[in-house]
Amino acid sequence: MKCAVCSTLLGPRYVAFVRRVRRLIYQDQSGQPKVTEQILSADLQPAWCSIDCWEDMADPVISALQLTSPFPGSGPVVPCSRCGAPVDKTKAHVAYVVLDLEVKEAPWLTSGHVHWQRVLAVLCVNCEAPDGHSAGVARETPAAQVEVSATRQAHKAV
Ligand SMILES: [Zn+2]
Ligand SMILES: [Zn+2]
Repeated sequence: MKCAVCSTLLGPRYVAFVRRVRRLIYQDQSGQPKVTEQILSADLQPAWCSIDCWEDMADPVISALQLTSPFPGSGPVVPCSRCGAPVDKTKAHVAYVVLDLEVKEAPWLTSGHVHWQRVLAVLCVNCEAPDGHSAGVARETPAAQVEVSATRQAHKAV
């Protein structure tokens, strides 16, 4: 895989573009709000060598996805990034996420560490329905492990 912007060969650390079907679980633990991201499926594509290269391509990606208000807020209900209709994030929905991750491969497992992630878009069911979400699971096993550490690590980007 090569960076989509500068053609650098991608190493174990790269920036990926992910289409997730997910839902968020909001809990209150002794006064501390806690958000858990439940990922139902993820289609992850290594795309860029660095956040700089992603930022070079952010505007074309945003217009290709027809996003009118990218980078949604963190509340449980946000406007759809494409049409503005309310999206309840506690229900299954499609989200596009950019991840800076580092994949470590050993003979018996693949695991990853997420250095940075940003939700680019959250879409309502009329714009992209979150159905058929088992399709991408099998080939996303390494990514699924990555997502677990991302969820544990920080709630700031969900
Ligand atoms: Zn690059
Ligand atoms: Zn919409």
